[in-house]
Amino acid sequence: RRSAPVDEFSALGSEALQALREELRKDYAHFQDRGLKLDLTRGKPSAEQLDFSNELLGLPGAQDFKAADGTDTRNYGGLHGLPELREIFSPLLQVPVDQLLASDNSSLSLMHDLVMHAMLFALPGGETRWVDVQRPAFLCPVPGYDRHFSICEKFGIEMIPVEPTEDGLLDIDEVERLAASDPRIKGIWLVPKYSNPTGVTVSDRTAERLAGMTTAAPDFRIFWDDAYSVHHLTDHRVTVAPIVQLCAEAGKADRVFVLGSTSKITFAGAGVSFLGSSPANLQWYLGHIAKRTIGPDKTNHLRHVRFLQDSEGVQKLMERHRDNLAPKFAKVQEILAAELGGTGVASWTEAFGGYFISLDVLDGTASEVIRLAKEAGIALTPAGSTYPYGKDPRDRNIRLAPSFPPVADLDTAMRGVVLCVKLAAVEKLLEG
Ligand code: PMP
Repeated sequence: RRSAPVDEFSALGSEALQALREELRKDYAHFQDRGLKLDLTRGKPSAEQLDFSNELLGLPGAQDFKAADGTDTRNYGGLHGLPELREIFSPLLQVPVDQLLASDNSSLSLMHDLVMHAMLFALPGGETRWVDVQRPAFLCPVPGYDRHFSICEKFGIEMIPVEPTEDGLLDIDEVERLAASDPRIKGIWLVPKYSNPTGVTVSDRTAERLAGMTTAAPDFRIFWDDAYSVHHLTDHRVTVAPIVQLCAEAGKADRVFVLGSTSKITFAGAGVSFLGSSPANLQWYLGHIAKRTIGPDKTNHLRHVRFLQDSEGVQKLMERHRDNLAPKFAKVQEILAAELGGTGVASWTEAFGGYFISLDVLDGTASEVIRLAKEAGIALTPAGSTYPYGKDPRDRNIRLAPSFPPVADLDTAMRGVVLCVKLAAVEKLLEG
């Protein structure tokens, strides 16, 4: 969902604009005088949210270290991760339990390691290592998640931005066209549900097309980063198609890596992560990872099992997160609508879930908005960070992350942000 902007600032005559600029400059100076220090940069859970899982700190308990099959979780081994934990997350991530691995505390590290291993060792179905390909490339739907882009940048993988459709959805026509056109294109980053930062979800039909599309590279992989699979903000629990199944049905079982974690379910720094894929991909991955570790932290797996109990337990915990987060998202929406609605200088997303609001300001003003905000003590994600190489060609996208600050701080910070958006827009309009 995206607000519909109407033209208003641009319809003002230059005298009215100049008067508005004076007013906004004064408001901004007052705002600056408050000497605030507020941060809307990263999608971190708040301390209150982390408290929901404090029981974990006392689990599994002094005498509790045996898994259901008798495995001593304190010891080495068990590369696949604890079966009972994988069972809990199998329906949530829509991956059959025998095709789902549970790992350590970060899905980002799984993504990093998958790319790194694909650079160094040919993937199932691949003819060469990616490092032997001249200029390997990835499709990067934009705006997207900066840490995905950092992985590509680190390994010298060229990033090809894919702009959304008019409706803000994944442009699957363009993805199909590009993937079929060039064997250098080895993969695509996708956050299928409640995406970072736009909150958009991949439709069932688009998922089917992704699973079945022709790719020039035989070892093309979808990095299906389901980081927000259970992170609803409304009663409308959005679903996505089971991509592992779709790929298998399309005869392209090895096409997808599904990633997930409990970073925004339990503890962001001490949760568990998951990798789901085809048997061949998992065998490839486990073969390599076995040289790196003798097994994941199964004690953490066990305490997560004791705490979450079952898939329903995860959903119940997510209700508490929703109760905490929804008022924060509502606050941001309220201020955006009240202050920027009808100005024609901004549009923004309103997602059914996830952690972000994606704000588009007047073209060519995002860096200025971020600079102004910084000078007024409000830290925003750096300009361009939602684009590959940090380059937003229209210099207009800003990712807002409302989860961490208390509502009162969020209110103050957002009032500052909208002021900066308006001031930068008016300056720009007068300049042009
Ligand atoms: N993927 C996406 C889309 C994210 O937004 C985040 C966290 N901001 C992550 C992955 C990081 O996941 P993890 O904590 O499991 O490494």
